[in-house]
Amino acid sequence: MKLKKIMLSIMDRKDKIKGMKKEDINDGINEMAVENIMDDYSLEVGFRRKDTYNNRTLAKLSNHYKDIIKLIGEDPEREGLLKTPERVAKAMQFLTHGYDLNPEEILKSAMFQEDYKQMVIVKDIEIYSLCEHHMIPFFGKAHVAYIPNGYIVGLSKIPRVVDAFARRLQVQERLTTQIKEAIHNTLKPLGVAVVIEAQHMCMSMRGIQKQNSVTTTSDFTGAFLVDKTRAEFIHLIGSKLH
Ligand SMILES: [Zn+2]
Repeated sequence: MKLKKIMLSIMDRKDKIKGMKKEDINDGINEMAVENIMDDYSLEVGFRRKDTYNNRTLAKLSNHYKDIIKLIGEDPEREGLLKTPERVAKAMQFLTHGYDLNPEEILKSAMFQEDYKQMVIVKDIEIYSLCEHHMIPFFGKAHVAYIPNGYIVGLSKIPRVVDAFARRLQVQERLTTQIKEAIHNTLKPLGVAVVIEAQHMCMSMRGIQKQNSVTTTSDFTGAFLVDKTRAEFIHLIGSKLH
C-alpha cells in the first residue's frame, strides 16, 4: 500500500516535470522517493524524525573519511573512491540513526488498554548494530516477550524499539537491557523478557577469528524471574538458542 502511494506520487510529479533534462528528472525522482519514504516512516513511529542526512554532518564526516582513506594508504582521487567518503558518511548516519529516535515514545504511540494477561512474544527480530569498541557490525536476532498488565502495544512497535537501540554504537549486553527497560517503563507489564543472539564481526574478522561463535545475552523482569514462566518463554522461542 505504502509503496503504491509513493509510486503514485512520483508519477504525479513526473507529469509536472516534462521538458526537463532526463538526468534532472531522474535525480528529482530519487530525491522525492527518499523524502516520501522517510515521511511515511516518521508517521509510523508516531513522531517526526530529524533529517536523515544532516548536510553539515554529512560534509564533515565525508572530509574525515577522505582523510581516513589517505591514512590507510589509498588514493581518494582514484575513480572508484571518488564518491566513497560521501557514501560512507551517509551509511554511518543511517547506521546510527537510532540516536534520533525515542523508543519510549514509539511504544506510547501505540498503547491500547486490554485485559489480555498471557505472554506476548515477538521472536526472530533481525538486529544490525555496531560494536562500540571497533565500530564493526554485530548482527543477529532478538526475541522479546512481555505479559500485559492492562496495556498491550502494537506488535510492529517492538521491532521498532529494538531497531531504535540497535542503530547506535552498542554493546550487546546494554542493548538487551535497554530494550527491556523501555518496555518495562512504558507498558508497566507483569514481566519482560529479552534474549539476543548475535555474531560479532569484530570477533570473526579480526582478533580471535572465531567465525561462527554466537553470543547470547538475556534479561528478565517480573514474572519471567519465575523459573516456570522463563522456561515457557525459552521453549516458545524455539530451539535456536545456543
Ligand atoms: Zn568489537
